[in-house]
Parts: sequence; structure tokens; C-alpha cells
Amino acid sequence: MLDWLRSFTTRLIVSRDDQETKPYLQYVLLFQAGVTIVELYLDWRQRKCYEYKSIPKELEKHVTPEKFEKAQKYGKDKNTFSIWSQVVQTGVHMTLFATYSLPSLWNRCSQWMQKHTLPIFPQELQTTLLYSSALFVGSKLISLPFRIYNTFVLEQKYDFNKTTWKLFVKDLFTESVLSAVIGYPSLIGLWYVLETSGPRLWLYFWLFTSSLSVLLALLYPPLIMPLFNKFQPLQDEKLRREIEELANQVGFPLNKIYVMDGSKRSSHSNAFMYGIWKKGIVLYDSLLEQNKGHDERILAVLAHEMGHWKMRHTQKMLVIGLLHSLALSWSYGKIANNESIYRSFGFQTKAHIIGLLLFSELLTPLDSVLGLMMNSISRRFEYSADDYAKNLGYSSFLIEALITLHLENLSTMYPDPWYSLYHNSHPTLTERINALENNLETKKNQ
Ligand SMILES: [Zn+2]
Repeated sequence: MLDWLRSFTTRLIVSRDDQETKPYLQYVLLFQAGVTIVELYLDWRQRKCYEYKSIPKELEKHVTPEKFEKAQKYGKDKNTFSIWSQVVQTGVHMTLFATYSLPSLWNRCSQWMQKHTLPIFPQELQTTLLYSSALFVGSKLISLPFRIYNTFVLEQKYDFNKTTWKLFVKDLFTESVLSAVIGYPSLIGLWYVLETSGPRLWLYFWLFTSSLSVLLALLYPPLIMPLFNKFQPLQDEKLRREIEELANQVGFPLNKIYVMDGSKRSSHSNAFMYGIWKKGIVLYDSLLEQNKGHDERILAVLAHEMGHWKMRHTQKMLVIGLLHSLALSWSYGKIANNESIYRSFGFQTKAHIIGLLLFSELLTPLDSVLGLMMNSISRRFEYSADDYAKNLGYSSFLIEALITLHLENLSTMYPDPWYSLYHNSHPTLTERINALENNLETKKNQ
């Protein structure tokens, strides 16, 4: 360990002006440790909020002391879980890099492939497929105990879990088959793109990855989600008519309204929309159950969603996402052939998959900053969608719906502002209530 530490620090200091062997690995490990420390500090800040004993002013009318106490306990348990899983998973991740285990795995895969090669694909591509499979299985195995604990211990304790062991295993199996069905062809396509595109690598790489992600986003609701859940047309005639009226009023291109059996896994509730031209609406059965007899609340949630549609938030996010991936592809084009990066991480090969893997490692610090920016944009969108629902007259119903959703999900009552800024893509409940109520006040005063 000491030897390792000594060589780590020596490389960091000594090889600084040596162009050939810049200590990229050391920088990446330091940055990742830095990001982890910041995230743990934020966890700790949020953790302190779960010690508060009194109900926040805005929620006093709506929350019973028992519910508040339960939400605080749930939050604290989730916080403990998140700290442990982060420490272990980042620890394993960094150890794999620091001990050069990934290059030796690549070498083993390569040797194995030399003996068992098939005349279908080039050698590097075959090794890539084997290597990716090994990494996929490895990461699944590392995260599995955490997933089991989260589902069957943590969520179970607070009566959220509805997943049976049988369903859990079935889900794992379906996910793995799906990853193979989508992953292998994508990987093969990507490899050929990178292999053949020459100096315009960044452009073809961008075109390939962005069309693939748009395609997957389009196929996800109609083809993939039904593998995990059942979708049935909404039976409640009255609610269906009310939703259709709302859609008519705002000119929303409503296609079908489905109810999804989300309750078969968990009693957490939600609603979403999908589709490009014609939009389908999906309501979780748990959302309907929790708002029985309060159709206006469900309409308020949908009015908010229609606000996102009206203001083209999805398209705007898509454009931002495409520009983001363009910037990434361009940067990848710049470093893909930089041999010293591969060497620094202990790789003797410049295989495409390794380049991508190392590139994503180098990006960790930048990703955290970009995540902050995306969250801030998304929060702005949420406020304006709330505003849209308010203008349709749903202000108080939306507040009720948000509170119900929040309480049923036992969400955090006291979000730490820094934690929230870093992690949350939505404004906090009290921020949203305040914004909606202030708007109510100004409306009344006008
Ligand atoms: Zn929203």
C-alpha cells in the first residue's frame, strides 16, 4: 500500500513536465475523490435536516406529527443507505483503476479471444464484446446487494415495497436480456463507426450516438416499458372526459390515456407523457388511488405536464442534450489518439472501447458541473409549468396534489439548500408552494 502511495505521489509531481507520461490516472483519481468528498459533505448536510423535530410552517396544516416523524426517519435511513452505497461503489471503482485491474482484464479477454476467435468480426471487436460483457456483469454484481437491500429492507420497512422475489428475479433477467439485445448491436455499430471515420471521427461519433439515443427514447415507452408493466386504458369515464376537456382547452394533441400498474413494484406514485406528435398520458394506478375523489388534483398535475408540452420543454432539453453530446464528441475526437492517456491508465492498446471508457473517466469533474447547470434549467422549467397550471386556475389543486404526492412518497420535508441545488432537478415542495401561493396573492390583489 505504502509503495503504491509513494509511486502515486511521485508520478503526480515528477512527471508533470514530461509530455509523454502525464499522470492522467492520478488526476482522475484525485478529482473523483474530490467529487466524492463534496457529495458526502452534502449528504451530511442533508442528514442534519432529518434531526429537526418541528413541522415546516408551510406544511403544518397538511401533515400529522406521525407522518412527519415517519418521513424524517425514512429520509435518514435513505441518507445512510446512499452514503454507504456511494462509499463502497466509488471505492471499488477507484480501486479497479488504481490497481490497474482493468488493463489486465482487457489483456485476459484479448488472450482468450486469440484462442477462441470466430471468423465473424475483427479481433479487437470480439475482445470489446467480451470485455464489455465482463464489465457489465461485474457492475451488476457489485450493485446487486445494494438493490436487494434497498427493495427488501429499506423500502419494505416503510411499506413502499410491493416487489416479490419472483418479480425481482424476473426484472433482473429481463433487464439483462434487454441490455444484450440493445447493447451488442449498438456496440458493434459504434465500433465500426469509430474504426472507419478517420479525421471526422467526432462528427460521425456524434451522429451515431445522438441518433441512437433519440431512437431509444422514442422506442422506450411503446416497446420496452410494456415488458415491465401493464398499460390499460383509463376506465374512469368521468376522469377521462375531464382530461379530454382539459386537452381540448389547451390544444393538447391527446392520444390515449393509460393506467400503469406501478403498484406491483412500489407504492410510490407518478404520471408522465410520451410520444412525438400525438401524446399519450400514463397515470400510475397508485396516483389514482391516492387521489380518489379528487379528480381536480390529477387534472392539476396534467395541466402542469401540458405546460411542459406547450412551452416545448422536452424539445429544448433535447437541443441542449444534442449540443452537449456534440461538445463531448468533439473533445473525444481530440483525445482519442492520445497514447499517453492510455499508457497512464496502464493500457497497452488503443482499442476504441478503452478510449471511450477513459474519456468518460476524465469527464467526471466536468459532468458534475454540467449536472448543476442542467438541474438549474430544469428547475426553471418546473416553475414555468407550475405557472401554466396556475393560469388555467389549478393553483390550489396543484398545491394539494403536490402535497399529497410528497406525503405519500414520504419525501424530504426539510431539504438542505446546497444538497438540493446539487441533486434536485425540481424545486423543493415549499419553494413550489410559495411560488404558487405568491402567485395566488398577486392574482387576488389585481
Ligand atoms: Zn414538471
